[in-house]
Amino acid sequence: MLEIKAAQRLDKVPPYAFAQLDQAKKRAIERGVDIINLGVGDPDLPTPEWVWRQARAAVGEPRNHRYPDYEGSLGFREAVAGYYQRRFGVSLDPREEVMALIGSKEGLAHMVWGMVDPGDVVLIPDPAYPVYEAHTHYALGEPYFMPLEAKAGFLPDFRAIPQGVARRAKVMFLNYPNNPTGAVAGRGFFEAATGYCREHGILLCHDAAYIEMTYDGYRAPSVLEIPGAREVAVEFYSLSKPFNMTGWRIAAAVGNKEALAALGKVKTNTDSGQSGAIQEAGIVALRDDPEGFIGHMNEVYRSRRDVLVEGLGASGWDVQKPQGTFYLWARCPGGMDGRTMAALLLEEAGVIVAPGPAWGAQGQHYVRFALTVPEERLREACQRISAMMPRVQ
Ligand code: PMP
Repeated sequence: MLEIKAAQRLDKVPPYAFAQLDQAKKRAIERGVDIINLGVGDPDLPTPEWVWRQARAAVGEPRNHRYPDYEGSLGFREAVAGYYQRRFGVSLDPREEVMALIGSKEGLAHMVWGMVDPGDVVLIPDPAYPVYEAHTHYALGEPYFMPLEAKAGFLPDFRAIPQGVARRAKVMFLNYPNNPTGAVAGRGFFEAATGYCREHGILLCHDAAYIEMTYDGYRAPSVLEIPGAREVAVEFYSLSKPFNMTGWRIAAAVGNKEALAALGKVKTNTDSGQSGAIQEAGIVALRDDPEGFIGHMNEVYRSRRDVLVEGLGASGWDVQKPQGTFYLWARCPGGMDGRTMAALLLEEAGVIVAPGPAWGAQGQHYVRFALTVPEERLREACQRISAMMPRVQ
């Protein structure tokens, strides 16, 4: 009998954790459970009105009914450059140092294809957003994991990377504010990271998806603020989280020209760019009063964070308040495994969290809570968890 067999390189990549979570959620809902979903990091509040109104008008414009420019419209790239200038004091050439993406996930994945030959090493944090590792395997590269430990503020130690590994490394991924740990990194860290990558001829890919999501007065820096960083670094900025636009798929890669050219070569042979109408929405989001909206959203998440940290703390969880992202990275009480805990939370409390091992071996005893429901639902989640804890310990 004819057997259709998928490529072996897919075997190295586990099923996408969030697709699995979705299945578990559907089954629980079918059983009639009142689910509180703190699993996927998808903002629950809508895209601001001034942004979607622009998109609605732009959809009717014939100029947006044709193929868009591959690298993004000049208007969108100028809006990204304008934002980098205002927010970070970084001047970018919109023609060569900015490229539109169909969400940063797409750009992160395709950058691996642009840079990595079979056998090349890719330096990946552990825990990390799973896309870096998946595409390293697809491109037949070799992941080398840099552990992020709580005692080191979830920052990797570059000196711990063996010289032989560093010599073969082509790309390093970093992500601050960090998913899943919520850790932030200052300029000093980015100076060390760019210095290390320069010394070893490595492209530093900084995933800045949460760069605007910070609390308690903290403002996250861009890696491109470091003098000379664009010689070794590309930053991935996304409109998904700051403007509640995960469903729109719009982001940008900025920085090193050669890396962007390689990414562009992969992309022109893969996709044909994001819709002009969505790029127009992106332009107004970046240009018109983002500070006010972002500040408001961060206040919403800060308040939720405080509710959850307090509630979990009261039922015996040892959780710290993160300065960035809308996640709580929580060590499971009693040394329980993250998958077991996530399954119990769903079964016993109807609360969906993401199991820590989905981000790597360092996540074995962790689960991740996303602050994506209103405060009263977070309080309800805390009550249910508190009621369940005596049964699981
Ligand atoms: N990077 C990180 C660390 C993320 O958590 C996510 C989404 N959850 C992304 C990138 C991708 O975001 P998008 O494709 O929506 O820009």
